[in-house]
Amino acid sequence: HIRPDGDCVGSTLGLYLYLKKVLPQANITLYLEEPSPIFSILKDFDEICHIAEGHEPPEAFIVLDCSYDRLGFSKPLYEQSKLKINIDHHISNQGYGDIRHIKPEASSTSELIFDLIEEKDLDVEIAKALYVGMIHDTGVFQYNSTSSKTMNIAGMLMDTGIEYTKIIDDTYYSKTFEQNKALGKALLNCELLFEGKLIFSSISGEELQLFGADTQDLDGIVSQLRLTKDTEAAVFLYETEDGCQKVSMRSNGLVNVASITESVGGGGHMRAAGATVSGSCEQVKQLIMDKIKEQTGW
Ligand code: 5GP
Ligand code: MN
Repeated sequence: HIRPDGDCVGSTLGLYLYLKKVLPQANITLYLEEPSPIFSILKDFDEICHIAEGHEPPEAFIVLDCSYDRLGFSKPLYEQSKLKINIDHHISNQGYGDIRHIKPEASSTSELIFDLIEEKDLDVEIAKALYVGMIHDTGVFQYNSTSSKTMNIAGMLMDTGIEYTKIIDDTYYSKTFEQNKALGKALLNCELLFEGKLIFSSISGEELQLFGADTQDLDGIVSQLRLTKDTEAAVFLYETEDGCQKVSMRSNGLVNVASITESVGGGGHMRAAGATVSGSCEQVKQLIMDKIKEQTGW
């Protein structure tokens, strides 16, 4: 998974820990692009593999929380594996693979993994990983993807003895100095469009450099923008290392942001979606605005 987020890291590590436990004789590798160090509180974080070159094609390849276009460096191994399993909760998942378990109604892929594993083999380390995934994809049980089932599962994870307060603080709310500076700058840069219905902001590569921040430091900015009173949707753009624009969109319900990002090569959920688009910030901003106008008639 390219740019792995909390649910991606939590669900993959949760399943990895579980599979190692129930299949001790199996040779299991977890492939992810380098995740944020905040997730190093999870067991076996150090075992995550960041290269696939020279690795033998596996018997089975399980892809979690990931649409086909975000498979990243391990795609060749996926292509060569005998059995391909695709487990996801993104409405935009293309339904690839031999076995597909795609449930857009689930809060997170971590919630799906909880359902798939045997409860008797659940332990505090697996629970911690799945809990991280759930809090990240629900905004700490805030988004409308949170169901009573989500809460019941969270309760069962808590019962294993995880330090839930610390997990939430350490992986969700805690910000580095650089992250706070970048958040502050992004908030200063913001503007209202479509008569206040849309809030837009962006941050340039130079601005990031100025604050000693990098693109991994920008999680949570678009969520803060979304909270602006009387707005329907928020768009945040930043320049990626290879000169493209990462688009992050959030909606308060009226705008279907998944369909907008899908139309520019990305995906996500109705209320939270993203894409990576080539072009300058101004060009991509205009493109996204045109798509919003097309959908909403604003
Ligand atoms: P975020 O804005 O936090 O990066 O992503 C919000 C949601 O959209 C997440 O569920 C994420 O998986 C999805 N998403 C973000 N960027 C992309 C992308 O480039 N392609 C696809 N398919 N989904 C994306
Ligand atoms: Mn997810």
